[in-house]
Amino acid sequence: MRLYYDQDTDLELIKKRKIAVFGYGSQGHAHALNLRDSGANVVVALRDGSKTKERVVADEIEVKSFEKAAKWADFIMVLLPDQVQKSVYDSYIQQHLQPSDVLAFAHGFNIHFNEIDPPDFVDVIMIAPKSPGHLVRKTYQDGQGTPCLVAVSQNHSSQGLDLALSYSKGIGGTRAGTIETNFKNETETDLFGEQVVLCGGVSELVKNAFETLVEGGYPPELAYFECLHEIKLIVDLFYEGGLSLMNYSVSDTAEYGGYVRGPEVLPASATKERMKEILKKVQDGSFAKEYLADCANNQQKLKQYRNQTSEHQIEQVGQKLRSMMPWLQKKLVKER
Ligand code: NAD
Ligand code: MG
Repeated sequence: MRLYYDQDTDLELIKKRKIAVFGYGSQGHAHALNLRDSGANVVVALRDGSKTKERVVADEIEVKSFEKAAKWADFIMVLLPDQVQKSVYDSYIQQHLQPSDVLAFAHGFNIHFNEIDPPDFVDVIMIAPKSPGHLVRKTYQDGQGTPCLVAVSQNHSSQGLDLALSYSKGIGGTRAGTIETNFKNETETDLFGEQVVLCGGVSELVKNAFETLVEGGYPPELAYFECLHEIKLIVDLFYEGGLSLMNYSVSDTAEYGGYVRGPEVLPASATKERMKEILKKVQDGSFAKEYLADCANNQQKLKQYRNQTSEHQIEQVGQKLRSMMPWLQKKLVKER
């Protein structure tokens, strides 16, 4: 597998373009600011009446409406929520695409599941940072970068990969390493990862462990620190040096206990069997269908799960404990 770094890529390609970043949320603000600081010609496209406009103006980036941005740009990066992309594309982008324009995404969902079907005279590419947006911005400002995946699904100009790599350089992706993949692999591994590990798996593990301790008569504050707060310290070690560094850093007792009890909590054969079922629902499109159906129904289920989670005891206890640690407070960048 080839990894691309700064020296393998040409920033000039992206600097010649008129880039419109659609959306100024988690990814949008980071891409737009990093590209601007890399010397690219970038505007941010927002829906009319968006409350985000003031923030973009304060960040000294030009704002255009979806329509005007689509008309002006020859490189469109779509950083709207996945479920919003199709309707914005259909209403504002499609009719303004010109031969040799570039349509870019940070996740393959809409292209891979055929929600968006661009004309064949444009390049369709992906630059997907493997990190939340605020870190894409922060690492860039710190002189570091975020690993990225790039992919090309339509290569009208024959420059698709070079353009994606150039964009990746503009947001700091080739400082940390950028890998070429395809839309299918990015989309399916991304959905699988967030479902079974990053968002779903970890949350359930934390909640169940917290409940077990509380039901066993231990103080919720203790259970919170043990099962949620400390995850960050462990994950930082994973991030810096893999499983081995984590095991090196914790006590022998913790290391031994982890080896013997981890597989008891998550027995490999049963766990993998369930994971394979989940992977199948990603691959055959049934998860995408299920998700888009909920979106079409005003995200009723999503909102219900969100409320249930916020009412969980671990959230109440956590809020109280974190209020005593003001350095943890984060400004949220999402308009909901
Ligand atoms: P987000 O939820 O932060 O929202 C993006 C922005 O879209 C909002 O700030 C707003 O400006 C606009 N927006 C929201 N709802 C809208 C609506 N109904 N109509 C018009 N505009 C609306 O999005 P995000 O998490 O940055 O995701 C953008 C893309 O990046 C998605 O394809 C996502 O899969 C991908 N991605 C996200 C992350 C991440 O960490 N968040 C990581 C990698 C890739
Ligand atoms: Mg992801």
